[in-house]
Amino acid sequence: MALEASREPTEASAQLPDRIGIDLGGTKIATLKLSATGKVLYQQRQATPQASYQGILDALSKTITAAQQAAGSSQTTTIGIGTPGARSSKTGLMKNSNTTVINGQDLLGDLEKICQQPIRMANDADCFTLSEAVDGAGAGADLVFGVILGTGVGGGICLQQRIANGPNAIVGEWGHNLMPLDRLPQELASALVRGRACYCGKTDCIETWLSGPGVSRTYREITGQSATALEIFSGSVPNTYRQMIFDLYCELAALGLSTVINVIDPDCIILGGGLSNIEGLNREIVSRLSPYVFSDHINTVVAKAKHGDASGVRGAAWLW
Ligand SMILES: [Zn+2]
Repeated sequence: MALEASREPTEASAQLPDRIGIDLGGTKIATLKLSATGKVLYQQRQATPQASYQGILDALSKTITAAQQAAGSSQTTTIGIGTPGARSSKTGLMKNSNTTVINGQDLLGDLEKICQQPIRMANDADCFTLSEAVDGAGAGADLVFGVILGTGVGGGICLQQRIANGPNAIVGEWGHNLMPLDRLPQELASALVRGRACYCGKTDCIETWLSGPGVSRTYREITGQSATALEIFSGSVPNTYRQMIFDLYCELAALGLSTVINVIDPDCIILGGGLSNIEGLNREIVSRLSPYVFSDHINTVVAKAKHGDASGVRGAAWLW
């Protein structure tokens, strides 16, 4: 497959612009400057100003200027930004962002005016997926589904190292599909309390079962005790409980992911977000896919993200 070659260094790379990537997160803004061949030239992190939209615009324009002025391989730079939420294709304004001060704002238009150059912007889960598809755990794969398992559950799809976009700007948002609990083995299905309300207005969304808060809730409902997902999986709770929740989580993840595999059949699924750090998660999920996937065999690769926390900012840089 010729796909991998498309981003590899060539003689002409020195003439190509450097790439600035920015990951605008809820708590931090990460900035990265890569050469055309992917070498890290500059990186910086700072807290996200929470108070105002203008504060965020100022912080972004300052970090872009600093990255542009840092030593590079080229006189010119491209700029890519990953954001929570998405830009409405109807209005051009931001929506669905948990950094709420940017909702309803023309973030892309305002930044382009300040920087006086075109900027590309994408959802942070899309940037994560792109990064892993270009030179991460999904490098060389044709169709990559990137999954965020964290405070929320999101995802993105890359086909031949390009982010898939749809008319509603929601490609990969599998976290707000229904978790089909009826498909679980009877003894498991009957042990779970259904009807989890999701902030989106529906109940039993995949996110309500596979997010960190979802794991915490499962633990509370089964054991009667409180613990965060981190405490549960880092071993701060009795081993038997930890194992029980791990097995259940992997079964639910396999069930949830089977709905994606049956539709797009990705070559690989890359796991990111805080919960992806659970040891052995990817192997256990793969071993549980078979009963739920409409196929006599499972060739899908499920892997942990290669670039971890840095995937978002790297993917933003690769938007050009
Ligand atoms: Zn939902």
